[in-house]
Amino acid sequence: MKSPIPDYLIGVLDKASQINDGNPASYIEVLARADTTKSAVALATVDGSLYTAGDDRVEFSIQSISKAFVYALAIYDRGLDGVLAKIGVEPSGSPFNEFSIEKGRGHRPLNPLINLGAIMAHSLVKGNSPEERVERIRAILSKLAGRQLHVDESVYEAEIQTAYRNMGLAFMLKAAGVLECDPEHAVQGYVRQCAINVNVRDLAMMAATLANGGTHPVSGESIIPSDSVRQVLSVMTTCGMYDAAGDWVSNVGIPAKSGVSGGIIGALPGQIGLATFSPKVDNHGNSVRGVAMCQQLSTDLGLHMMDINQIARATVRQCLTTITTGEGPVGVPIFDLRGAVRFGGAELLTRTVARELSEPSEEPGSGCNADCPVVIFSLRETISLNTVAQAILRENIRRLRLDGKRVDLIDPNGVLDITQLLPEDQPTVFNSVEQALKRIGGLGYRVVTEYHS
Ligand code: GLN
Repeated sequence: MKSPIPDYLIGVLDKASQINDGNPASYIEVLARADTTKSAVALATVDGSLYTAGDDRVEFSIQSISKAFVYALAIYDRGLDGVLAKIGVEPSGSPFNEFSIEKGRGHRPLNPLINLGAIMAHSLVKGNSPEERVERIRAILSKLAGRQLHVDESVYEAEIQTAYRNMGLAFMLKAAGVLECDPEHAVQGYVRQCAINVNVRDLAMMAATLANGGTHPVSGESIIPSDSVRQVLSVMTTCGMYDAAGDWVSNVGIPAKSGVSGGIIGALPGQIGLATFSPKVDNHGNSVRGVAMCQQLSTDLGLHMMDINQIARATVRQCLTTITTGEGPVGVPIFDLRGAVRFGGAELLTRTVARELSEPSEEPGSGCNADCPVVIFSLRETISLNTVAQAILRENIRRLRLDGKRVDLIDPNGVLDITQLLPEDQPTVFNSVEQALKRIGGLGYRVVTEYHS
């Protein structure tokens, strides 16, 4: 069978190609001459499949899309606090080339995705010259793209010759006492980073790496630390589309970054990276067809990050088995946790366990198994436990141990890290409920109730 996804992407591209609004950016002479018949769309999954349609190998300068990755690199080099001391995270609501600076003592550019903040972020990348900084940026973008990228000298020359406005911004930063390096050098480096050539295939992989928590979907290399990724995606959400950010978040709902040469990336955490290209931009500097394609993809593929359908459901299935002790038969509850478990699922489990094993009270079902000597947790059907779910489950085990219970854990896939529990609190681990029951002499078990979050 032929996958329907490439055909679907061709349809998205065809539909967008009927839109003729916008113009190529004119303030950079090379961009003004861009071939406006070219356009492309690409989608990369976090496990490394790439789907494209259109002119997917046509190169264009990355422009402002570089800002997101240079911000990540600045955080890597200076630490998050070091960068936050110099650049804020507030949307400016103003055009990208505005002097949007925090009022008051800090004089921080409002965010790293407008030119002012991006020039500052560039200056924070380690290196003694614009060339050294750009080389580090080029190298990391190449790693993300999975191929060697290069500066387009014609784009650099065209932009630097008329970079009066960016020069003005950098000199103002210097005058305010916040830019450490020479303002001309900061702008030269920044303009060179913007002139690195890419195609939509490269951009989709870069976006998919962000969506994948900083680990490259194909090479498996961890390129950006996951806490920096969170920071980058956050500012992309609020500031990535400049003064159209609010419209973008409500209509498309994917952390994104646009560039004035017509590229857009979108990175949906945990799912996909997408990229579009079409040179005609609107008055915010965002590609007109690109915005339309992203909106279409978001709607058709259900990619809006506020889409409630995306909640990973967790289920607690509660079973009961009976064992015979010296004092006669007692119930052994089995808590069977299913799904991709985050705080919500872990809370459901905790609530269920607490109700069953508390002292009997007015609450229906409470204390049914307060006397049980053994509690079994089954993680056989647990797809994943995030950090907080792990911590809550370990705390459940620790408290049950404090109450003098024995805890058995069914965890054939090793989803729970029990090494963080004290040795005396660690449960005995089995591969199946049957194995555990054999050990404790249970009589088989029956399902009592299922709870869904
Ligand atoms: N190099 C461009 C500039 O500084 C980048 C702007 C953009 O892509 N929005 O004006």
